[in-house]
Amino acid sequence: MLTTYNQLAELNKAHLWHPFTQMKDYCAADPVIIERGDGVRLFDTEGKAYYDGFSSVWLNVHGHCVPELNQAIIRQLELVAHSTLLGLSNIPAIELAAKLSEIAPDGLRKVFFSDSGATGVEIALKMAYQYARNKGMESKRTFITMKEAYHGDTIGAVSVGAIPLYHEVFRPLLFEALTIPYPDSYRHPGGASGAMSETLETLRLLLEARADEIAGLIVEPVVQGASGIIVMPEGCLREIARLCRKHGVLLIADEVATGFGRTGAMFACDLEDVAPDLMVVGKGLTGGYLPVAATLATDEVYEAFYADYEEQKTFFHGHSYTGNPLGCAVALENLRLMEERRVVESIAAKAKFVADKLSSLKTCPHVGDIRQQGLLVGIELVRDRRTKEPYAWEERVGVHVCSRARELGLLTRPLGNVIVFIPPLASTREELGAMTDIIAASIRDVTEQGWRP
Ligand SMILES: *Cc1c(COP(=O)(O)O)cnc(C)c1O
Repeated sequence: MLTTYNQLAELNKAHLWHPFTQMKDYCAADPVIIERGDGVRLFDTEGKAYYDGFSSVWLNVHGHCVPELNQAIIRQLELVAHSTLLGLSNIPAIELAAKLSEIAPDGLRKVFFSDSGATGVEIALKMAYQYARNKGMESKRTFITMKEAYHGDTIGAVSVGAIPLYHEVFRPLLFEALTIPYPDSYRHPGGASGAMSETLETLRLLLEARADEIAGLIVEPVVQGASGIIVMPEGCLREIARLCRKHGVLLIADEVATGFGRTGAMFACDLEDVAPDLMVVGKGLTGGYLPVAATLATDEVYEAFYADYEEQKTFFHGHSYTGNPLGCAVALENLRLMEERRVVESIAAKAKFVADKLSSLKTCPHVGDIRQQGLLVGIELVRDRRTKEPYAWEERVGVHVCSRARELGLLTRPLGNVIVFIPPLASTREELGAMTDIIAASIRDVTEQGWRP
């Protein structure tokens, strides 16, 4: 290699500002610099191998450096890398739009591309807002979101976000949204059914009083991700969808984390037979290769914009790389491989295997809750399992567990005191076994043996 590790580390600390990272902490340690990937593992510049235990931030489907995906990009690269969708079209974007509308929940027949989950959410919010204007429902100006929701980091997405640690500092810049509780069973005095009825009752009262002010409700269907992998009680999403429909409020499903097999169905909405009015996908869409996201809409939404130009109903929104041919080509190949390898069908058995492996943690004094839907797993660490007393955030127990896991050869990032395990969907049983062993050992080392970096 031309540049040594020390030179890279120095340049890293001098010039690179990392997302969601306190750079003072980052600069105090030796950075892991990834050089290549192979299957479910990543290798750093020193040759050390790590399991990708969080799918490179929840994206990866078939593993890294997959020959078919690489080839799909190369084939498209030899034709054209990029051409705009503003007034022009391209082959992969057309084919991917058709494919997405084929696999999406019923009725989502129109596809609007962008390049990240956050932009996909912005588009859904702007569509819902302008849909109301275009239909002459001027009073519909606000949105319902759920407590602890995460929809991305642009200002509109942050406005419907509700994680105080990330969002509070920007509050004065944000538009107002109405917040209802997400049905979080773990600490709810009424358990799953109490949490669910609180959510539904709050929503029902809000809709009965103020539906004419509300353009849409945005929800992370079945699993709320960034708040700590919170799984909804069964039937809750279906009831949310029913209430929205009854009161004429658009349902926006943010499937950025849950889409493409992650929960055990193609989309989390499919688990509850829910057909939203707008749906946002990103993350796994390209198999974790390139930044493509999409906002899907029903014909009903689309037709509210379809008019003579003079009526001024056009959706004036777009991005430079909207519908990028390389990204769409690799997304198509990702979806083709998912079908060929029956990835969605394989998740239930893998999820059961992971659940069995992790069940040995249930007796640990500091494991409070193990939440799982498909291959989306969160393990909540607590000071006291009996009282569910959390660890103080300053202790950074989650960070320590992930540091220990890294040492033992697995990469993941915590959500506060919740250890996230989101392996690539293609992981084999053997690989899942090795990964869960590292996670269990890291949790025991930190919470029972006092391991610290
Ligand atoms: C990651 C995520 C987003 C944001 O996606 P980006 O591509 O990071 O902008 C939005 N919603 C959910 C549910 C997510 O998990």
